[in-house]
Amino acid sequence: MNSKSKCPFCGNGEQVLKSNEHAQVLLSNPRKVPGHFLVLPKRHIEKPWELTDLERRDIFELTDYVSQRLIEHGLGEGVDVRQNYRPFLYHSKLKVNHILYHVIPRSLEDYIYQISEKYDTELFADLDPTEAREVAKILK
Ligand SMILES: [Zn+2]
Repeated sequence: MNSKSKCPFCGNGEQVLKSNEHAQVLLSNPRKVPGHFLVLPKRHIEKPWELTDLERRDIFELTDYVSQRLIEHGLGEGVDVRQNYRPFLYHSKLKVNHILYHVIPRSLEDYIYQISEKYDTELFADLDPTEAREVAKILK
């Protein structure tokens, strides 16, 4: 069985809330907070760099649309748009092998902040110049 055949987003048109030519919007289930949407290409793709320019354009058109609706309707004062590529995780209810972008409404010290992000500041460290030179080399 390949990952497309067990993909919950392929062939589930009834969940689509909005779409354009190459992308579609669904509610995330499970979701982190009310108003947590998913924007994904209609075509089953697993790696972000497999997106065509048209798919990328349509995904970001819907991402902007959802973001504006969330703010206009008071579900958040801002949004996080997040894409995770984690092939090291097994396919599960929380990890699907169909590239998608999470659009999550956010506000100052909201539920996500209270539960996890208030600890994020401990992750930050000053960038070491040697590390910066070494890591920057991968882009050359
Ligand atoms: Zn799929």
